[in-house]
Amino acid sequence: MADSYPVWRSGIASEGAAARAETGSASVEELRAHRKRMLVTSYRLFGAFGWGSLGDGHITARDPERTDAMWLIRYGVPFHRTTTDDLVLVGPDGRVEGGGSINMTAYHIHAPIHEARPDAVAVAHTHTPYATPWAANVEGFRMICQEATAFLDDHEVYEGEEVQVSDFDTGKKIAATLGEAKAVLLRNHGPVTVGGSVEEAIGWFLLLERVAEVHVKAPDARPISAEAAAIAAREIGHVSSALAAFEYAVASKLEPGAAG
Ligand SMILES: [Zn+2]
Repeated sequence: MADSYPVWRSGIASEGAAARAETGSASVEELRAHRKRMLVTSYRLFGAFGWGSLGDGHITARDPERTDAMWLIRYGVPFHRTTTDDLVLVGPDGRVEGGGSINMTAYHIHAPIHEARPDAVAVAHTHTPYATPWAANVEGFRMICQEATAFLDDHEVYEGEEVQVSDFDTGKKIAATLGEAKAVLLRNHGPVTVGGSVEEAIGWFLLLERVAEVHVKAPDARPISAEAAAIAAREIGHVSSALAAFEYAVASKLEPGAAG
């Protein structure tokens, strides 16, 4: 298993081994295989957290060659049992290469974001125990914990009331609200994060959920100063922070051999 995960061997937060895997000399085939492995690992990780157990949410990864297409889990597969065989390639028109069915809501949310953000290799969304309740407040995060600084001036709130995203145009509005940020909270719905790799998008997602937990549990929290937040954000908001969160979560939550 370790051979499949150069990220782990690199050591925690070593300035983006995963990002190097994304941008290095890997062939298209190697890059595609890497993204699919990381996608499987991420679905299983969400499953280990109990997320997506009601069929909510998805994680997608852009194909390195067909850059207008994204890899997505096929319809009906429980996240914790995902294998690479369960991943299907979805074109920009929502059609599944080679057939098979998908959750069209996933297409409506994820495809417009991949289209609007060429840098977004991956997009993650599901309904989590804390970010979904927090999103019902229709408010952004305050700087009330360390992890919150990762999202300092780097997250948005989508205030549209389409809690069921049933068309591409709604997804485009969500993508427009996201802008260049790393996360958007969908009002009365849940969180969305993006990243330059699957690992990064998931790392931000994990950190965002912790931030939301603090917001829900400490409604009267006092934020740190803008100056202190800006200093912390330089480290906590850096991609290496997301990659470290991903690595720790995989090592902590998945049994050896259970990663994709
Ligand atoms: Zn959703």
